[in-house]
Amino acid sequence: MSQPAVPDVDVAVVGGGATGALVALHLLAAPGLRVALVEPRPAPARGVAYSTPRPEHLLNVNAARMSAFDDRPDDFLAFLRDAPEAAAIPDTALPAMFAPRRVYGDYLQARLATQSRIDALARLETTVEDLVPGEGGFELRTASGAPLRARAVVLATGGLPAALPVPAGGALAGVVDAWRYDAVAAIDPGADVAIVGAGLSMVDVLLTLHANGHCGRIVAISRHGLMPLGHVPGTVPQAGGVAPLLPLGVRARMRVLRRWAAEAQAHGRPWQDALERLRPQVQALWQAWPPAEQARFLRHAVRHWDIHRHRIAPEAAAVVEAMRRDGRFSLHAGRVLAVSVHDDGRLRLDWRRRRGERDETLAVDRVVNATGLEKRPTQVPGSLPAALRTRGLARPGPHGMGLDTDEAGGVRDRAGMPVPGLWTLGVPRIGTLWESIAMPELRGQAARVAAAALAHVRG
Ligand SMILES: Cc1cc2nc3c(=O)[nH]c(=O)nc-3n(C[C@H](O)[C@H](O)[C@H](O)COP(=O)(O)OP(=O)(O)OC[C@H]3O[C@@H](n4cnc5c(N)ncnc54)[C@H](O)[C@@H]3O)c2cc1C
Repeated sequence: MSQPAVPDVDVAVVGGGATGALVALHLLAAPGLRVALVEPRPAPARGVAYSTPRPEHLLNVNAARMSAFDDRPDDFLAFLRDAPEAAAIPDTALPAMFAPRRVYGDYLQARLATQSRIDALARLETTVEDLVPGEGGFELRTASGAPLRARAVVLATGGLPAALPVPAGGALAGVVDAWRYDAVAAIDPGADVAIVGAGLSMVDVLLTLHANGHCGRIVAISRHGLMPLGHVPGTVPQAGGVAPLLPLGVRARMRVLRRWAAEAQAHGRPWQDALERLRPQVQALWQAWPPAEQARFLRHAVRHWDIHRHRIAPEAAAVVEAMRRDGRFSLHAGRVLAVSVHDDGRLRLDWRRRRGERDETLAVDRVVNATGLEKRPTQVPGSLPAALRTRGLARPGPHGMGLDTDEAGGVRDRAGMPVPGLWTLGVPRIGTLWESIAMPELRGQAARVAAAALAHVRG
């Protein structure tokens, strides 16, 4: 029996979500370069965030800042101008719009599809399970068995949801993952729902339940009982360097930040302005801290940072506030201890309030896992992360978060040396960069990683 032909490419991009599609798009601009994109989802360029079909799921960054290209800052605005979803919005209001995420997926997909060499892109609809380094590159082993060899590999695998913080929780019928948009939308409007986690994924869930006219009780439980705050319309990037903050530790930086917020308010501006001043410099601020100070931030300040930094669209914040006010939704600080099936077939959630001394029980029809992104590579499900570790091709990043990478995104092996021809970007770089999750950072990373991979194969 003849063996199937093994496609040989110059660069294989593993993961065809937002960043993988952008890396492929940049690589295709190099004449003659052979590029493969491996992604199990049928539609490329959407990944977790932009595959939601739900119109109520909005971007949490305004349109002015969501271009996929650093050198064409108005590119998303140009796309949006012709999108039916923005037809009623005057041109002058478009930059401040928080567009539906599915429209952003349309945008990325359209930009990839119209790349002039798109026909040269080999697309494999499967998952990469293992990466075997060899002579002059890598063999990629896929779930479908489709063979693939590449001289360089870019891991654009994004993030996966963290498991429920209780044993076997995810395996119970009635437990729904927040990123399974269809399953959340199918929740009966009369159901009593418990949401575990109170970040952006919880907001997605609330918006969908609200859009479906939910009338059952909704309770969210998170360790600190804090949820993302809203953007203020018209907040704009602020001038003013962050150099004075660089030598300061966590507490001192927080004091300065509070002062900036107070000053903004004293001038009739929102506190959000203070965050806008920091936002483009977060990577530099993170990297200026020694590991012990970074660890202090992760221990004491991260949740407060998250709710101020990862803000939600004003209209989303208004819906959540209305649901809170009318009593349909409540948020508690506490720890989930167990999820099990109750005698009457409902789900039973055992939990303990923050600083509480006794366990409490909730009986609900559905539990939604909205615990968000799994940052620890050792806990990420799937074969590839484990294979990379077993082969010594990768090691956990600082503080056990993401993968250890060099300045260019080169993946460091077990011994800390960059693996020739292997790069990553986005969430896997979170330990090194901290701010490595949103498009304003990722678009630049995509261009730089593509350039590095090109130089490697052409060098
Ligand atoms: C719910 C949500 C909302 C968000 N909203 C915003 C926003 O409004 N603005 C913003 O700037 N950022 C937002 N983000 C951040 C978001 O992570 C980035 O904008 C961007 O989508 C990340 O792109 P990525 O390519 O790294 O990950 P993804 O787009 O998720 O792509 C990763 C892809 O890799 C694939 N994959 C994983 N493992 C393998 C494997 N072994 N083999 C093959 N394929 C694999 C997955 O199927 C997935 O499609 C949001 C994130 C989430 C989760």
